[in-house]
Amino acid sequence: MTTIDLPLLPLGKGTDLSAERGVECPGDLPAASDPDLVARAEAAKAALGEKVFVLGHHYQRDEVIQFADVTGDSFKLARDAAARPDAEYIVFCGVHFMAESADILTSPDQKVILPDLAAGCSMADMARLAQVEDAWDALVDAGVADQVVPITYMNSSADIKAFCGKHDGAVCTSSNADVALEWAFAQKPDAKVLFFPDQHLGRNTAVLKLGYSLEDCVVWNPLKPNGGLTAEELRAAKMILWKGHCSVHGRFSADVVDELRATIPDVQILVHPECAHEVVLKADLVGSTEFIINTIEAAPAGSSWAIGTELNLVKRLANAHPDKNIAFLDKTVCYCSTMNRIDLPHLVWALESLVEGNVVNQIEVDGETERWAKVALQRMLDLPGRSHKD
Ligand code: SF4
Repeated sequence: MTTIDLPLLPLGKGTDLSAERGVECPGDLPAASDPDLVARAEAAKAALGEKVFVLGHHYQRDEVIQFADVTGDSFKLARDAAARPDAEYIVFCGVHFMAESADILTSPDQKVILPDLAAGCSMADMARLAQVEDAWDALVDAGVADQVVPITYMNSSADIKAFCGKHDGAVCTSSNADVALEWAFAQKPDAKVLFFPDQHLGRNTAVLKLGYSLEDCVVWNPLKPNGGLTAEELRAAKMILWKGHCSVHGRFSADVVDELRATIPDVQILVHPECAHEVVLKADLVGSTEFIINTIEAAPAGSSWAIGTELNLVKRLANAHPDKNIAFLDKTVCYCSTMNRIDLPHLVWALESLVEGNVVNQIEVDGETERWAKVALQRMLDLPGRSHKD
């Protein structure tokens, strides 16, 4: 193992009282108060047997992920659930929009359960259906709606996906956003894309992958009249980006990239495309959660990395690869607060309730929304060759 004398510490390799960056923070996610919870979760899972299938998103805590039958990003997990039609109960350890997608892609007799209903997603919540419909009305008023193809990121509510289905649009993930945008721009003469909810993924993809300029992009602010844009600006734009962002990936800053490069020899900066454009511009590698995992797994021993994604995943990668120096790309310890709503007490409660025959916290998407959301998801699945990973 290569040891580097650093003021900024790789995860789990010491303490630095002047900065929390990359430092273990024992106690920040307290252990479950009841020491019997692990045994109770094991017993409940065993009692349910093949009837239950537990999905764990990569950003979940260790205490929860240990009970996952399969781990992955949101789209992979939804497809994994669909591939297990024999499982009566799908317990989704992730956030609300993911459980909705699993419900859409599974059969009607399978029940999807979210152990804590407070596990939402701040990014998905930044685009509400009524706001999107208002934006569409403004596009109609500006005389450009016929040119617009709506594309929504997987990280959005089911009714937003359905909106895209109804308006000849599609869903995308962080792995196939470029293919989805190319498809969208080819759909209509002089096409424009309305992209939501994550402005950063939209901008990074349009500018860095498709070659559009920053001037081709405008930002629709749903909290301002007419999105804060004139009809002229809407007519001139190619990309209309929704003013939404991920509360976790939006924290990473270009300054920290510079600091880390100055202090960690040969560090490689690896970030998710939900990071701001100026951070992505300074990174060595940009890609989805699965890309980040695969990159670290393939990296040579002794290599140094600073990773800009959710901290549970970065810590797990650091623990799994002690021969590599892995730091977190933020000054402070920061987890996705809603992902971390799913804890062992909630998981045990959900599983034990199922053992007793009570289905708790079921996530059900209504039939009409599901039908149109499936249309938008199918358009994504029909996109030319690329793995569809989030
Ligand atoms: S990490 Fe970001 S996009 Fe993912 S659930 Fe949390 S807030 Fe939402």
